[in-house]
Amino acid sequence: MIDRTNPSAASLSRRRALAMTGAAVAGAVAHRLEGISAQETARAVGWSDELGSNDLLNVATTVAPISSIVRNIGGNRINLRGIVPDGVNSHTFEPAPSDAVILSNADVLIANGLDLEVPTIELAEANLPAGAEVFTLGDKVITPEEYAYDFSFPEEEGHPNPHLWTNIPYAMEYARLVEQKLSELDPDNADYFAANLELYLARLEELDAAIQATVDTIPEENRKLLTYHDSWAYFAPTYGMTVIGAIQPSDFSEPSPREVADLIDQIREEEVPAIFGSEVFPSPVLEQIASEGGAEYYDDLRDDEPPGEPGAPEHTFIGMMLRNLEIMANALGGDPSALASVSAEDTFVS
Ligand SMILES: [Zn+2]
Repeated sequence: MIDRTNPSAASLSRRRALAMTGAAVAGAVAHRLEGISAQETARAVGWSDELGSNDLLNVATTVAPISSIVRNIGGNRINLRGIVPDGVNSHTFEPAPSDAVILSNADVLIANGLDLEVPTIELAEANLPAGAEVFTLGDKVITPEEYAYDFSFPEEEGHPNPHLWTNIPYAMEYARLVEQKLSELDPDNADYFAANLELYLARLEELDAAIQATVDTIPEENRKLLTYHDSWAYFAPTYGMTVIGAIQPSDFSEPSPREVADLIDQIREEEVPAIFGSEVFPSPVLEQIASEGGAEYYDDLRDDEPPGEPGAPEHTFIGMMLRNLEIMANALGGDPSALASVSAEDTFVS
């Protein structure tokens, strides 16, 4: 993997070249699949299919970023159902009895793993039909030595920070793993899944380059993230930002008055221009921390909730990352215009 901890001008131009190669790849794939045109309708298909309703492979997923990645590889040749609803705290989500019924029709549950979805995985193990399996992604992309532990995911509790997908090279690995698994389970459609992987990786290359270009416009002293929910541990070092703290304790409760006071001191000392909350975790302490620390407060970052309604073209993993970067750039004195060249829409061959 390319080392991006210290992006140089040379590596940046290489990455722009890669992004252009991506566009060329997309054209070549579309050409090769003559008679099947790449999806042109401006909508995202989503992940609320009824499993078992036809002969297609039945895939259950957990959080929305993974569902969106799986949709872009499986396209319209799988039935896809996400178990964790949008806007719900995925870290504490408890599946309902109705989810057991959904899982009883799944050929596979594709999950993040790294302890993010323990109750859902347990329910799947008890309810998946014979021969079906749980396939986790995160533990196949990084080794235990690379697990991030931090304020909200302390090492002594043994649960690593699970948010690998905010790092686009890791999201690309997720896409490759999904393509391998779908092709193994449904070899008749392996060429289709491989074509979709190529298209999606090309788009993710564009996204990766646009994220780096956007972070590079943020004044260096402002490339700091203080967030409520701790989703950026794998994102920040890749793109040259620093996570200086997270507010949410490891049990997902509210921070103590002492912790709040310490955070306010830290914001003043480090002259942090903005702090970030998330849509899924509204918290009254954020506003207090921001106003007493002299920072602006933005409450709408999202680690696993795509923007827009299901069916909207931006209701995708890529749409979510574009929105996050737009918020960060605007809040930290950067320029989000590089993001406009990346489409949020699904890429799969229709
Ligand atoms: Zn999260």
